[in-house]
Amino acid sequence: MATLTTKTGQTVDRSSLESLVRRRLFFTPSFEIYGGVSGLYDYGPPGCSLQANIVDLWRKHFVLEEDMLEVDTTMLTPHEVLKTSGHVDKFADWMCKDPKTGEIFRADHLVEEVLESRLKGDKEARGQKVVVDEEKEAKKKKKVKETKVVKLDDAVVAEYEEVLAKIDNYDGDELGQLITKYDIKNPKTDGPLLPPVAFNLMFQTSIGPSSNMPGYLRPETAQGQFLTFQKLLEFNQQQMPFASASIGKSFRNEISPRAGLLRVREFLMAEIEHFVDPEGGKKHPRFEEVKDTEMSLLNRDVQLSGSTKTEQMTIGKAVETGLVDNETLGYFLARIQQFLLKIGVDKSKLRFRQHMANEMAHYAADCWDAELHTSYGWIECVGCADRSAYDLTVHKNKTGAPLVVRETRPEPLRIEEWQVNLDKKKFGPRFKKDSKTVEAAVEALSQELREKLALDLQQNGKIEVDVEGVGSGKVELEKDLVSIEKRERVEHIREYTPNVIEPSFGIGRILYSLIEHVYWSRPDDEARGVLSFPPVIAPTKVLLVPLSNHASFRPLLQRLTSKLRRAGISNRVDDSSASIGKRYARNDELGTPLGITVDFQSVKDQTYTLRDRDTTKQVRASEDEILQAVKSLVDGDETWEDIRKRLPEFTGQEAE
Ligand code: AMP
Repeated sequence: MATLTTKTGQTVDRSSLESLVRRRLFFTPSFEIYGGVSGLYDYGPPGCSLQANIVDLWRKHFVLEEDMLEVDTTMLTPHEVLKTSGHVDKFADWMCKDPKTGEIFRADHLVEEVLESRLKGDKEARGQKVVVDEEKEAKKKKKVKETKVVKLDDAVVAEYEEVLAKIDNYDGDELGQLITKYDIKNPKTDGPLLPPVAFNLMFQTSIGPSSNMPGYLRPETAQGQFLTFQKLLEFNQQQMPFASASIGKSFRNEISPRAGLLRVREFLMAEIEHFVDPEGGKKHPRFEEVKDTEMSLLNRDVQLSGSTKTEQMTIGKAVETGLVDNETLGYFLARIQQFLLKIGVDKSKLRFRQHMANEMAHYAADCWDAELHTSYGWIECVGCADRSAYDLTVHKNKTGAPLVVRETRPEPLRIEEWQVNLDKKKFGPRFKKDSKTVEAAVEALSQELREKLALDLQQNGKIEVDVEGVGSGKVELEKDLVSIEKRERVEHIREYTPNVIEPSFGIGRILYSLIEHVYWSRPDDEARGVLSFPPVIAPTKVLLVPLSNHASFRPLLQRLTSKLRRAGISNRVDDSSASIGKRYARNDELGTPLGITVDFQSVKDQTYTLRDRDTTKQVRASEDEILQAVKSLVDGDETWEDIRKRLPEFTGQEAE
């Protein structure tokens, strides 16, 4: 049975959290009455509020704080754009098919599950205590018949452990080799599997009625941002560096969606593209502000050695030692951590894992994932990659659009260089239709080659140049056609393609992992679950609870509600006939951090009690004082401890 360990050290069954999440309508499977479609979910009222609050905080933390330029680009993307970006050819996972049953497995997940299962069987055979990894357990329930208790050789155990630590680093061929080497079969039937083949994860569609414009639902928001780069640079008055940001849905046709919101086919992403000058070491002007941030880092060498041991280090040191490639990347890793902690993530369940070489896109300079620990294991929730100049370059080359920065140099740059001059009048008649190709080949000659060719020309009166696709692939040019001389060129403008640092957040994964991190149950009653969201992101901030539905409470409730609404603080009145304790218990499950009780004393003197969800302690004070305390708690200006110290405690009435 899958369990999770709460902040309070309890071990609770995940199914109790799952039932809470459904019962309270945080999110539920889509199209349920039609049987559901895996990987698709609907959010109910508390789920929507929670998501909106996370996104709101994200906007404040990143877009506002860093003057980012937010854009909202379309989800429908023409084929050509995603062909150029490499997604049509490479945005794929490896899958294996059982030719007999038609079942499909994601190759890396299958290898992982089977080896994990064998290691567990080995531990049992050796009589060791089995540390249960919950995700693997759940998977095995469905797929692996049962763990075979078989002792393995020590060398095999070490090999399996190494493969597992590097599982994200294998390509299709390597996964195929592992499947053969370790004799991995369909876990349900023991039937053989076909070698892994690539499965593109994009949903294809066609745009317009004539179906001659193929397109895709975007798999990330990034491409839309790259394509607006030039307009944004202009909007930003040509100032660099700057960042764009976008929040919107992305779509991936996952091979085997599972684990609730963690692997779905449609999800909300919040992505930043920070454009930076590649020269000068990618420094960040605000790095100083974050350099002392302590982080838990899992570097690629440790993983390649077959271990997953993290190291505690300040981000300043990580950049200084070159573990994190540059300041800008380091700055964002620290800012990502700050954001996650602000929304209530448990720091002991957060780590940053560096990508191994094969796992990274070939153009990326460095890449780290913020991973959150859940009952499904460590889950990548935020990716943060240095994508170098790749995307802007490919789109520029394809379209000719100048996706570059042009800056006036403070001092003109004088460059001594070998310049090639062609006699165009003779060139055209000589090479006819191939003129342009030959010309382009000559223009592309490196300085080194030009120097050598200048000497050839002087000595032999002719040179030979490689020109692909013309004649034999070599073209002779005599000295009446071409001259090569060393001259000085003065450059006033510097032109460069910016590099991109991309923090990419999956909001659904963060939302679910957070729910696990803040979940616990009252020690005296395990059935009473509590979600301890920080007030700033809690779906509803205040519960208003009249002692009964006595008419004299109504005007007070109305006044409180309208004052809270005016202050922008979400609240709900619960005047049902359930006991106060029951009403609070319901709202503990919704994560409502504060409760105001209205009683007969309130009618007399307009004082109210304010209850804290986590401690269930109460204070009593005047209307203004209570409302002020609520505001200050919701804005994060004060903690409950601060409020308790300055307002009188109330112990008169049971409000647990
Ligand atoms: P990637 O572009 O693959 O690095 O993904 C960026 C982020 O999107 C990840 O860190 C996840 O938080 C999120 N993400 C990716 N795929 C999925 C999925 N299938 N379901 C939910 N979230 C996802």
